[in-house]
Amino acid sequence: MENCIFCKIIAGDIPSPRYYEDDKIIIIKDIQPQAKLHYLCIPKTHFALLSEMDEEKLEIVKYCFKTIPTLEEKLGLQDGYRVIINQGVNGGQTVPHLHIHLLGGEKLDA
Ligand code: AMP
Ligand code: ZN
Repeated sequence: MENCIFCKIIAGDIPSPRYYEDDKIIIIKDIQPQAKLHYLCIPKTHFALLSEMDEEKLEIVKYCFKTIPTLEEKLGLQDGYRVIINQGVNGGQTVPHLHIHLLGGEKLDA
């Protein structure tokens, strides 16, 4: 998708170290961390909102939630973390490419 910052990162046009990558997702660090560790799990398929989900995209979202727990130790999240998906304007979504925030590395405020 043209002009999508996450598609550009996935394509390698914007450099960003990958803490995990496979054929379906990448995990990078958020450029403006809101916790000691702040990762973004980004599907390689471009779509913005959960409401756009069809069967194929549902499989991608499922895959994210299946894979993230297998990476907890590798990412330093073994003591727990917060999972956030911002949706649309009211949800504070600034990048219209679905992504999952993973915040941890410290005890977060409730
Ligand atoms: P959201 O507000 O849920 O759409 O989250 C978008 C996130 O992407 C924000 O937390 C930004 O700090 C982060 N972000 C924007 N550009 C980059 C980038 N080039 N590399 C890493 N994270 C980014
Ligand atoms: Zn995109």
